Amino acid sequence: MTLPVRPRVIAVANQKGGVGKTTTAINLATALAATGQTTLLVDLDPQGNASTGLGVDPDARRVTTYDVLTRVNTLQEAMHETGIPGLSLAPATMDLLSIDIELSAQSDRARRLADAILAMSQTDACPSYVVIDCPPSLTMLTVNALTAAHAVLAPLQCEFFAMEGLSQLLRTISEVRDSVNPELAIHGIVLTMVDGRNNLSNQVEADVRSTMGDLVYATTIPRNVRLSEAPSYGKPALLYDIKCAGSQAYLRLVSELMDREQRMMGAA
Ligand code: ADP
Ligand code: MG
Repeated sequence: MTLPVRPRVIAVANQKGGVGKTTTAINLATALAATGQTTLLVDLDPQGNASTGLGVDPDARRVTTYDVLTRVNTLQEAMHETGIPGLSLAPATMDLLSIDIELSAQSDRARRLADAILAMSQTDACPSYVVIDCPPSLTMLTVNALTAAHAVLAPLQCEFFAMEGLSQLLRTISEVRDSVNPELAIHGIVLTMVDGRNNLSNQVEADVRSTMGDLVYATTIPRNVRLSEAPSYGKPALLYDIKCAGSQAYLRLVSELMDREQRMMGAA
């Protein structure tokens, strides 16, 4: 008997809101699908921005990640088509707001998503990649994502308190490693909303690079209005305007990420 091949699982996480997690998760998942890797984007944010950004309206979110975490449905049952070949979505609704309380008495509460991905890996529906869009908190939803993930991708906005937030995230990653997921890796830190004409942005970038070294991706994502317009059309920026500076940066990021994937999997 061959062991089930688990999908590669990447969590896009940072407990700060508005740093580019959802934009990164959507465009990463789209680019992976475009290169022929079947991909499932799991929306773990009660705000459901990744679901809206992929054009799945609240009315259409029949089975959601809430149903998966509460074990009413399997992850396969939560998979919605996105209209983009190779890309499916497990959508989120506001129901997720109560998950911490609802699961508080369950000893397996941190493992709910990991178990759902494991169950999916034993079926034909299993994709090659799972990308998880985390909420802006370090509560049970993000802990579920970190428990299920092989690696964390952390978008970091180039602003004054960026490093402070990062050290909290690194502490949580190390707690998850010490408890439930010893192999959790850091895929990298992605600097977002970079403005090369702004001194503070340049200074923060230099600080983050000198402190975090190779963990920081060479590719940075510029501040780009096309990236912020795309979700209102229910489309990833890569489909809304592939030529814009933001989309081009995400294509470079994904190519760098795939190089890192090769190295990480070669080392495993
Ligand atoms: P998070 O998921 O971390 O809260 P989002 O990806 O939703 O962050 O981004 C927050 C807001 O900033 C959104 O309105 C988004 O469209 C916009 N945005 C994200 N990245 C960029 C960028 N590089 N340039 C301009 N606007 C961006
Ligand atoms: Mg978000």
